[in-house]
Amino acid sequence: MSAPEPKPWIMAIAPYVPGRSTTDDGRKVAKLSSNENPLGTSQKARDAFLTASTNLERYPDASGSELREVLAAKHGLDPARIIYGNGSDEVLHLAAGAFAGPGDEVIFVKYGFAVYEIAARRVGAVPVIAPDNDYATDVDAILACVTDKTKIVYIANPNNPTGTYASREEIARLHAGLRNDILLVLDHAYAEYIEGDAEDGGMALAETASNVLVTRTFSKMYGLAAERIGWGYASPEIIAAMHRIRLPFSITIAGTAAAVAALGDQDFVAHTKAHNAEWRAWFSAEIAKMGNAGLRAVPSQANFVLVLFEGALTAEAAYKGLMDAGYIVRWLPGQGLPHGLRITVGTEDECRGVIAALRAMVAKAD
Ligand code: PMP
Repeated sequence: MSAPEPKPWIMAIAPYVPGRSTTDDGRKVAKLSSNENPLGTSQKARDAFLTASTNLERYPDASGSELREVLAAKHGLDPARIIYGNGSDEVLHLAAGAFAGPGDEVIFVKYGFAVYEIAARRVGAVPVIAPDNDYATDVDAILACVTDKTKIVYIANPNNPTGTYASREEIARLHAGLRNDILLVLDHAYAEYIEGDAEDGGMALAETASNVLVTRTFSKMYGLAAERIGWGYASPEIIAAMHRIRLPFSITIAGTAAAVAALGDQDFVAHTKAHNAEWRAWFSAEIAKMGNAGLRAVPSQANFVLVLFEGALTAEAAYKGLMDAGYIVRWLPGQGLPHGLRITVGTEDECRGVIAALRAMVAKAD
């Protein structure tokens, strides 16, 4: 007998490559490669996590009722329309699992989050890649990709890995241009970092539209990436379909307790947001000062900055040089960005250290 054969569409998946945390020679370095919170986690969330780490023999509450109630109260939502998962990654997969299948088309942008392609291919759907507009999301280009076979459009807003933000009006225009039988997934993993526009803009659309799913996460602003808690909000029909294929116990008791406590500590959130805004602006301005050496920071509304290298110093050389200097950032040749590094906004020391190292490399490359 021959061995079991994986489905051809599964073999077409390029496996997800996570941000690295060590160097090839095992040195400990500052990790600026996965857009985590450099300020850590709320102390209240840590305490709640430890307190809840008892009764390990018990299953978690499969309905997630406490988490849904607390989220609903914080965001002014209907708890029955909230779904949660093992990170928002799981919720993104549930969307594809429930609404796309073999031969269907799933659209996302050229420089988009890697999980969309994996989620689409996993169910046998065909990924369709919309061109960007100088790294930003181009609504008209997305609409031009729509065919009779389109089932899902995934948009991260702010987008990863570019950090760019499409305004509420642009998203409303995208939604208005899509047929009602196409699911629009608004991935708001970085929504809390947005300045000057309401972070819940997409939520208002999900409240009224029958074809919009908004996804959120505790991994970024709330500093709980280790605990894997994400959630989504959509119409009751969309949520019910996704529930059919959800793993019953995808989030843990301790992780849920941490998430609930983290939501209650908005001081930590405000502190993180202020830190990120200050150091993202500083970092981008310092990159701009190296513009004559071909460095460019793509305007970001997230907790990271995409730096383009268009001069003598290449992104690959800068990636290696930063590693030698003690910083791991994200080089993304596999995502069509061999000329870019995605750098998480770190602590003040980390931001200053990365800029100093880049400056030294630019001086040498001249
Ligand atoms: N969406 C985007 C755009 C992301 O960058 C990430 C994290 N890399 C996620 C979703 C998934 O995050 P998590 O599964 O930790 O919620």
